[in-house]
Amino acid sequence: MIPVNIPNITEDDITAVSETLRGGWISGDAPIVSEFEKAFAAAHGQSFGVAVPNGSLAIDFIFRVLDIGPDDEIILPAFAIISCLSEVLRLGATPVFVDSDTVTWNMDVTKVEAAVTEKTKAILAVHTYGLPVDMDSLLAIAKKYEILVIEDAAESHGLQYKDRPCGSMGFASTFSFYANKNITTGEGGMILSSNEKFVSSLRYYRNLAFKPPRRFVHDDIGWNLRFSGLQAALGLSQLQRLDESIRRRREIARAYREALAGIPGLSLAPEEGEFGKNDYWVVGISLDKDCFPPAVEIAERILSAGVQTRPFFYPLHLQPVFKKSSVFLEYHLSVAEWLGDYGLYLPNGLGMSDEQLSEAAQIVAGVFTS
Ligand SMILES: *Cc1c(COP(=O)(O)O)cnc(C)c1O
Repeated sequence: MIPVNIPNITEDDITAVSETLRGGWISGDAPIVSEFEKAFAAAHGQSFGVAVPNGSLAIDFIFRVLDIGPDDEIILPAFAIISCLSEVLRLGATPVFVDSDTVTWNMDVTKVEAAVTEKTKAILAVHTYGLPVDMDSLLAIAKKYEILVIEDAAESHGLQYKDRPCGSMGFASTFSFYANKNITTGEGGMILSSNEKFVSSLRYYRNLAFKPPRRFVHDDIGWNLRFSGLQAALGLSQLQRLDESIRRRREIARAYREALAGIPGLSLAPEEGEFGKNDYWVVGISLDKDCFPPAVEIAERILSAGVQTRPFFYPLHLQPVFKKSSVFLEYHLSVAEWLGDYGLYLPNGLGMSDEQLSEAAQIVAGVFTS
């Protein structure tokens, strides 16, 4: 079976982690953690990086430190991972869902301004599946109504929006280093921002709100959200070949595009969007409901043929967890709902071999044409 993700861990990565292990400074206080934060921030056009245990917590932590609460509304795409929503709900704030664009699968920015109210505190701008969301439109709305834009760039290490890096444009941005991302540390995450005061707060609360002169005497309650030296060593090593990783993702996507070309009712995200090139964090396919059964059914057929795929995100407003409480019933977001039912993505791990790629492409094309 060809798995949907095979990470790429090189000899250089292993050497980097071994050296850090031998050096003995492995905690969140290791200098290599700030070295990684600085290098990662510099590579993405922000002044400061704050490494945290994962990309979900990065989002949670930002909303906490911004003091989002029950009187606040947060605008976000319905077609997204639950990580975008969880803390909004935990804090008692109200999510306001926006539908997606049929071609790019990103939030339909033409629908955002109508979603702004007096209670709106922030827009969560998610760059989805390899194409950047239209940041200039979102930034213009945010400026007009004095609200913040937070970028969820978990899928967009090294991705460009026009001539700017994704993750450089919001008040703050978040990244994930989960095993299927463009850079992985196994688990891991990063917050970037150029707001020094905000970054100091993040650092303070990340480290249990320890404070001089006495470490164990507290004025505030914080969290331990530190990132280990071992993770930083791996991240720093992976960052060195980010361009190469993105080139590989595009090469993988090209192979699938060729194998799946001309199949009626099947679309891949474009190689080039209006705002930048696709880095194909995943190679997603969307299906016309008149031509194909739902993605879960197709995924089963492809799996029986030996290839693991994954159906797309499921729309946030339709999650079964909300059924009992009957919240979000007012939402009808046809594009997000269609993508949730008729989208899936193919194996494109950075560690997949050319042989696995051509085999996977052949098998997938075979299922779609049989
Ligand atoms: C992966 C991902 C996350 C969550 O990151 P984790 O490190 O897995 O917690 C958040 N947002 C998006 C868009 C993601 O793709």
